[in-house]
Formats: sequence, C-alpha cells, structure tokens
Amino acid sequence: MKALVLEEKGRLNLREIDLQQTLGPDDVSICVHTVGICGSDVHYYTHGKIGPFVVDAPMVLGHEASGTVIAVGANVGHLKPGDRVCMEPGIPDPNSKAAKLGIYNVDPAVRFWATPPVHGCLAPEVVHPAAYTFKLPDHVTFAEGAMVEPFAIGMQAAMRAGIKPGDVAVVTGAGPIGMMTALAAHAGGCSRVIIADFSQPKLDVIGRYDGIETVHLGETSMAEAVAQKTGGWGADVVFECSGAPSAILGVSGLVAPGGTVVFVGMPIDPVPVDIVGLQAREARIETVFRYANVYERAIALIASGKVDLKPLISDTVPFEKSVEAFDRAVEQRPEDVKLQIVLTDDA
Ligand SMILES: [Zn+2]
Repeated sequence: MKALVLEEKGRLNLREIDLQQTLGPDDVSICVHTVGICGSDVHYYTHGKIGPFVVDAPMVLGHEASGTVIAVGANVGHLKPGDRVCMEPGIPDPNSKAAKLGIYNVDPAVRFWATPPVHGCLAPEVVHPAAYTFKLPDHVTFAEGAMVEPFAIGMQAAMRAGIKPGDVAVVTGAGPIGMMTALAAHAGGCSRVIIADFSQPKLDVIGRYDGIETVHLGETSMAEAVAQKTGGWGADVVFECSGAPSAILGVSGLVAPGGTVVFVGMPIDPVPVDIVGLQAREARIETVFRYANVYERAIALIASGKVDLKPLISDTVPFEKSVEAFDRAVEQRPEDVKLQIVLTDDA
C-alpha cells in the first residue's frame, strides 16, 4: 500500500509501506477519502519533532480524515460497509483512569495518528476503533468530514470556556485553530467574536462570517482594540490561539472582570503569564489539549448549517501530489488556511 511517509526531518516520500493493520472485533476498516494537512504534520516535516515526540523511524503523516467504511469487526453494530465517516485520531487506553474520568485526551497512554511512533492516515486504507469513528450525515461532504478534527479543538475551547448566551469573545491569532475557535464560540452563543492577527488575508477569510469582527494588529494594539470595542470593560472570554509569548502575556489586559481566559495556542517554550493582572480581575483560567467527547457535537453543528467550514478549505490536491502539497504548506502562504489531500476518485 502506498502511503505518505516522513522518512526523517525534511524528507517525505509517497511510497509502499506495510502498515500491518489487522481488523480487530471492535474495529472498522476505512477507505480514506480526504485528509487535511495540519500544522503539526508540517512541523514534523520541517523540524522532525514536537516537544518530546521525535521522528526516529519512518512515519505516515496525517490525522484529519474522512472516508468510507469497507469492513467492520464482529462486535461493531453502529457502522456498516458503505457508511461515510470521519475519524477521531486519538485513541486512549479504554481502561485508563483518564478514560474512565472522561478526559481521555489527557491519557498518558493515548495513541494519536502521526505522533511518533504512531502512523497517521495518509494511506489508502486504515483500521480504526469503531468507537472513534463517526458517521457523517448524507449532506456533509468528505471535505467537511476531514475538517471535523481541527474544528474539534475549537469546540473543546468553547466547551471549556463555558460560554453564556450573549458573551463577547476575543480570539488572539487567526490561524486555522483561531478561526475554528471563533466559529465554535459564535455557534456556542457568543453575540460577538473579535479576532485579531497580523495577517490581513487571514482576517479577510474569517471576517466574512456574520458575528465575527476582525482587528488588524499592524494598525492597533490588541488591548486598545478590545477596550474600544467593549466600552473599556473587556471580553467575557479570551481565547489565546496564537501561542505567541507577547499575546500570552497580554491576555490579562483583554479579559473583563470575572471573565475567562482559555489557553489554546501552544508556545514552543515556557513563557511568562501576568498572574497578578489575571487575579485583579479574578479571571478563570482554562487550558485545552486536543479534545474529548466533542466529535458528535461538531458534526451536528456542521450538519445543521450553523457552522460552515467550507470557506476555510483553500485548496484540494490529489494524493499523487502530496509532497508538493506539503511543500506548499511549509511556505505558509498568508491566504492558505487549510489544504486538503484527496485519496480516491469517489465523490
Ligand atoms: Zn491537527
């Protein structure tokens, strides 16, 4: 089977590989249709590691996927061959303490696609636990199905924030995750979502949505913009999605008294946080690591039409052009939000 293999830092090949997948009784076998390229895939390609996770053996990339079920294990009842699905890429040990507590995303034993040493899904066929495989409604496309994974992070952020109807939210950073978080926050009941970035092309994409206001950081400071837009009170919820040290330090100047700060973006190194500034507002602090138990909600929001992720798909390339697609992702063109790779000719 031909898959997109990261041989080592900087070297990608579309080549034959034996993934040694066997269909267990609780698994489904899936013909992969669409896979989105994530910043983490690109980071492994360019740096060969993320924190403690180091690529020291060839690894198949990709974790944002949709496809069609082609076989089911003996115990699987809720899926059948022909079902169109998307897959949640992180599989915990079902008997772990974290899994029993419902916080399986922080199970130390979790196995996550394309996180060394676990292979990802940029391969024509994958075997996956049925419990982490979700049926797509007929009118939700494979392209949208492959957007559920990054949207799930925005969903997790919105859930952790505990949004109340009418809240005003601020999102710092308009990368794909910032955009997903803004859309989840708006769908979750925020009256206004103010999103800021230095990149005007990115702000142009997200600014087309109703209820979302953009701030170009080349023109004004975040603190000034938020003060001006909230009458000096601040935002009920601040989602820090950039991971930039200056933005992290600045959240205390954006949040309203009694508000909430959710740290979504991941700085590369430990960074300072203005604890006293946050204490003076008695802000609640939340953090996000991937997601748990949000896939069904995410799919339901997309299916309802309340969240339209299609405008965030910048381009779609065929599997044979995967390496070129990754090289384009490395360029980080300002107008590119999400690039997707399509593995089959099926509609
Ligand atoms: Zn991702």
